[in-house]
Amino acid sequence: MKHYHLPKEVDYILTKINQHGYEAYLVGGCVRDLLLFLSPKDWDIATNASPEIIIAIFRDDKKITDYARHGTVSVILNEIAYEITTYRIEGIYSDFRHPDNVMFTNQLFHDLSRRDFTINALALDRDKVIDYFGGLNDIQQKLIRCVGDPTSRFREDPLRILRALRFSSVLQFEIEEKTASALFAELSSIHKVSVERVSNELNQILMGKNCVSTLAYYSEVIFSLMPELKKMSGFDQMNHHHVYDVWTHTLQALGNTPDVLILRIAVLFHDAGKPDSFTIDGSGVGHFYGHPELSAQIARTVLERLHYSKKIIDTTVSLIRYHDAALLPNSISIKQLLYKVGKEEFEQLLLIKKADILAQNPDYRNTNLSYLDQIRNVYNDIINRNECYSLSQLSVSGRDLMQLGIPEGSRIGEMLDILLRMVIQNEIPNEKNALIQAVCSMIKNN
Ligand code: ATP
Ligand code: MG
Repeated sequence: MKHYHLPKEVDYILTKINQHGYEAYLVGGCVRDLLLFLSPKDWDIATNASPEIIIAIFRDDKKITDYARHGTVSVILNEIAYEITTYRIEGIYSDFRHPDNVMFTNQLFHDLSRRDFTINALALDRDKVIDYFGGLNDIQQKLIRCVGDPTSRFREDPLRILRALRFSSVLQFEIEEKTASALFAELSSIHKVSVERVSNELNQILMGKNCVSTLAYYSEVIFSLMPELKKMSGFDQMNHHHVYDVWTHTLQALGNTPDVLILRIAVLFHDAGKPDSFTIDGSGVGHFYGHPELSAQIARTVLERLHYSKKIIDTTVSLIRYHDAALLPNSISIKQLLYKVGKEEFEQLLLIKKADILAQNPDYRNTNLSYLDQIRNVYNDIINRNECYSLSQLSVSGRDLMQLGIPEGSRIGEMLDILLRMVIQNEIPNEKNALIQAVCSMIKNN
């Protein structure tokens, strides 16, 4: 018998429920993660005691009981919530979101059989694993397999299609054959899932270790959520810089992108505008003039449809817009871009550019990477020397200009902007006297 290391709070809850004569098991993700030697995100406990009994058992502990109707009581110990849920069977999934009604059952088996995948349908009684559906074997084989008939399970709740991809991407598991073919067959129902649930799963898919192969094998799932991306698939770039079609290039680039959500989203869309901006020159070479702007528009449309936050949308759109910006390894060129995007985004752009280069023709890789290194070195110098590229670094402020007699209003902003551009282009030093002199001659000339 194996002994699992459980937090003392979990042990307290299981013991206390047992002492009152009821069953209590850890269930779901925490059991799966314990068996995989991962740290569980949260601890879910299932019991045959009713919510009212759980409330009575934990009468001296802090609790959230709002969910008692759904069978869940959260006990709060040391500021962590432990969800205790009465065994239940779910009713008809009419809106594909919330089960219509919750029916309690007194059997663990029934509770486990409503769960999505065998690896999520295990229960742990401190040191004994209860495995009705072959979940232990599937964990060993690294397989995601529906509990019961996959077609009806995906029909009941098409979110499970995305959950399957999520577990495949995050845990580096394969989706078992019958589950995979039912998943493809039921794909048309995916639009019934709420956009918030879609984006939540999508983010986890994009952040997973196995993201590239999951997206490669299940591209159709992504295209059914984002039909705008489908054109990339198989699109021949006809350009010596590229050895892959646009979609394969995108996936390769994703594989080289750090696991930062904003970067992964930006890379997913960075070339989405290529198919629609494609032209062939007289020598038969393909070009994609203006594709970053088009890709940025596609990203905005898709991300707004999926209700991503304004912050995520604005940042990814900007990263996509500038991912291919002509950048020279000199301080003026770099400061011009820094002025537009700021320090944080500039550093993100360098990471995206690197991922992009690594997914292009390997013949140019070393040259392009060393060019990027030169850019990074110049950038580091700019930062280390605190060279001016933003209004906040400029040695004069709006107040200084007002003291020179310029009235409050848009003219101040325009003049500061002109001064900043002059400083960035090394036309004047970032010194108060020189800047004031420049302002005076601007006033004189006007
Ligand atoms: P995570 O580690 O991300 O929390 P999880 O497996 O715990 O993963 P949750 O969404 O927290 O996922 O759900 C807890 C458990 O509830 C799952 O392990 C699974 O048993 C069950 N479950 C969750 N969502 C579904 C669903 N859509 N259909 C069937 N069972 C589900
Ligand atoms: Mg969980």
